[in-house]
Amino acid sequence: MLNKPVQDAMNEQIRNELFSAYLYLSMAAHFESTNLPGFGHWMKIQATEEVKHAMKFFEYINERGGKVTLKAIDQPETQFKAPLDIFKMAHKHEQKVTAMIHKLYELSLKENDYASQVMLQWFIKEQVEEEKAAEGIVEQLKMAGDSSAALLMADRQFAARKSD
Ligand code: MG
Repeated sequence: MLNKPVQDAMNEQIRNELFSAYLYLSMAAHFESTNLPGFGHWMKIQATEEVKHAMKFFEYINERGGKVTLKAIDQPETQFKAPLDIFKMAHKHEQKVTAMIHKLYELSLKENDYASQVMLQWFIKEQVEEEKAAEGIVEQLKMAGDSSAALLMADRQFAARKSD
């Protein structure tokens, strides 16, 4: 059976992943309302990835005979600035999530919960990818600078993002 401190922390993480989905969905709404549907599409896919992350914890808790307890999700930011600022915000958010996953992993070590350590290693790897993706777009948008042609090209590129 899943030990209580690990179960509680994973229930918190379900909330954190769903908050991430909410935040990216809010960013998607902003992009779509500012005529950048490709960016909006990218963020909608990102939001569905976060729901999948939440579901991984959901399924794992049940698989280990624990109990899922859903928590309240905060309202995400709704006022946004330029695309570069938004992706800087997304990158910073992913760094925060990485720190949360690392803390969860530390807890599973402290609790000698080997199965959870294996499960969390997937998330540790995933966070490397998440940070890399957001940071890559930040760099791309820095290069685009004030060029609306470059921004529209990026928008077209992001419109092609497929779900993983
Ligand atoms: Mg996530």
